[in-house]
Parts: sequence; C-alpha cells; structure tokens
Amino acid sequence: MFKALLLDAPESEPRVQSLKEADLPAGDVTVAVEYSGLNYKDGLVLTGRGGLVKHYPHVPGIDLAGTVAESAHPGFSPGDGVLLTGWGVGERHWGGYAEKARVRGDWLTPLPAGLDSRRAMAAGTAGLAAMLGVLALEEHGVTPGDGPVLVTGATGGVGSLAVALLARAGHRVAAVTGRPEHRDYLLALGAGEVLDRAELAGPPERPLEHQRWAGCIDAVGGDTLARVLGQIRYGGSVAAVGLAGGADLPASVVPFLLRGVNLLGIDTVYCPPERRSTAWQRLVRDLPRETLDGMVREAGLEELKTLGPEILRGGVRGRVVVTPGA
Ligand code: NAP
Repeated sequence: MFKALLLDAPESEPRVQSLKEADLPAGDVTVAVEYSGLNYKDGLVLTGRGGLVKHYPHVPGIDLAGTVAESAHPGFSPGDGVLLTGWGVGERHWGGYAEKARVRGDWLTPLPAGLDSRRAMAAGTAGLAAMLGVLALEEHGVTPGDGPVLVTGATGGVGSLAVALLARAGHRVAAVTGRPEHRDYLLALGAGEVLDRAELAGPPERPLEHQRWAGCIDAVGGDTLARVLGQIRYGGSVAAVGLAGGADLPASVVPFLLRGVNLLGIDTVYCPPERRSTAWQRLVRDLPRETLDGMVREAGLEELKTLGPEILRGGVRGRVVVTPGA
C-alpha cells in the first residue's frame, strides 16, 4: 500500500488515500516518488478548473522525481534516479502526488549528474520552462549588455527561476510583481530593479511605446504581454511562457513589423527529450544551489488542498516541493 492524493470528481475536495500497486495505471516503469512540485497547472487540476482531467478518480501532480522501483523499459533499471515533467502526467495520466507512480519510460529523464531529486523538483516544470525561455532568448540574439530583460510574474515559480537564471547569465533583470512586499526576495535572486505590475496593466493604448527591454520572459500573458511587446527594443524577443494574467492577447502586429520583435512560444509538455536534456544540463550548471534552496518550501499531500486555490490566486512565492511520503 502507498499514500496518494486522489480526486474523485472535478468539484470534489482532494483526499489522501491508501492505494495498492494494482490501482496504478499502465506503464513500463514504476517510480518510488520522493518529491513532486506545485505548479499553476496543478492548481487548475486540484480545483477542477480548465477541463484538464478527463477521467476520474485521478492522482494529480504534473512533475515528479524519485528512484526507479521496477522497469520493463530498456533505458531504466531499478535504483536509477529519474525525473519527469509534462507528457500529460498529472492531467491525462496519474501524476506525482503519490508515493508511487507508474509511467512510460519514454517520458522519464535520468536525473542529471549534480542534481538530487529534491532540487530537481525545486526547479521542476517551472525551472524547465524558465530555462527554455532563457535558451530561446539567447538563440534569438538577446545578449548581456543589450539592455534590461524583463520578467513578469516574477515572484512565482517560473518568474523566480527566470530572474535567477537571467541574472546568472549576466543580464540586468527587471522583475515585475504585484507583490512589492517581496522586493528584497527578488533583489536577492538577482533582479536589478523591481517594477509594479500596475505599470503594465490594461490593454495597450498605442501599438508602440518607449523601447525599454532587450527581451522578456513572460509568465502572465493577456494585457501584460500585449503591453510588453510594444516596449521591446528593436530586434528584441519575448518568450511567452504563461497565462497567469489571462490567455488572450489584445496586441497589434506593429511591434513585429516596425521593430522586428520576436514572440517565442515555450512548451514544456511535449518538448523533445534532447532539448529537455540540454535545458536540465544548463540548469545544473548555471543555477546556484543556495539560490534554488532559497526559493523553496516543502508541503505534504494534505496541504495541497489549500495550496491549489492559493497558487491560482497568485499567493505562492517561489516553489513548493511536495513530499508524498511525509
Ligand atoms: P505561479 O507560481 O503562480 O506564478 C505566477 C505569477 O504570476 C504569480 O506569482 C504572480 O506573480 C503573477 N500573477 C498571478 N496572477 C496574476 C494576474 N492576474 N495578473 C498579473 N500577474 C499575475 O505559477 P507558475 O507555476 O510559475 O506558472 C506561471 C505561468 O506559466 C502559468 O500560467 C503556467 O501555466 C505557465 N507555465 C507554462 C509552462 C509551459 O510549458 N509553457 C510551464 C510552466 C508554467 P507576482 O505576484 O510576482 O506578480
């Protein structure tokens, strides 16, 4: 028997339950889960929003890290350290809010050297998304010294990791937040300046504003992203990662046509394995352990009942690492 957080229906409260191995879904690898994470999408699943889960009962948790317990997959053996983000796990397939998970081995990433399972989930899906955003900006020529790089939703999971990674790469980082009380936290992560979210609120009144930013990693979408596009310097780029402020984009094509601005989409769910591997290697290389440790707190399965709604309200700072066995 093992412990899991189970959802019986979209509107029902999650409950901690004992399950048998026979209850697990099909898959060729069984993982003893040591840690999972809390992401915005987990908040949607935990509260039954977004229609992400089609079949109940369901075990949420879109990412997990631990040790292979059993494997019929040629790439993995018992005892291997692994992590998993995306591929519909925690949405269409049972996820990481359990002491055991059965998954397809093709979805697993070997734990990179230098990363333990706790730090893998401290970064988690948010870290992968932020790193993919940094890589995309670099590949489109955003270089330290070009000008400040903006991060929106800065105190959230993606935002915190983006601030730290961009600062580490040598960029001057401007962090946008609706929570000015966390200014010192953002400065400690490496932000050079902190802006109030209100500066980017409301739809653009004109397509082009003063050219301020060489690039941006955007976790917010909506009006914020539309305003940012009009403020990007000539030839600059925006990595669109999230929609915490809205899924619409009330923008104009003028920044693309008159300033050569690039809007770059970031996807972690179906990101190809080679690209994931590159991103995880860079995360291990570039993200100082103490910086990562400083943005994390732990939570057990029971606490997820309140943390789900809380992350959707924008009330979680940094990353929450989930300990299914605690
Ligand atoms: P999170 O920890 O909740 O961070 C979101 C942050 O956005 C909040 O902390 C808050 O930061 C800001 N925010 C919240 N509500 C807002 C609003 N109404 N208007 C403006 N800003 C608001 O969530 P996360 O896990 O980092 O995810 C962030 C976004 O990225 C989500 O939309 C998520 O779905 C997306 N995401 C996408 C991928 C991908 O593959 N593309 C991967 C991971 C995450 P401040 O308080 O500092 O303003």
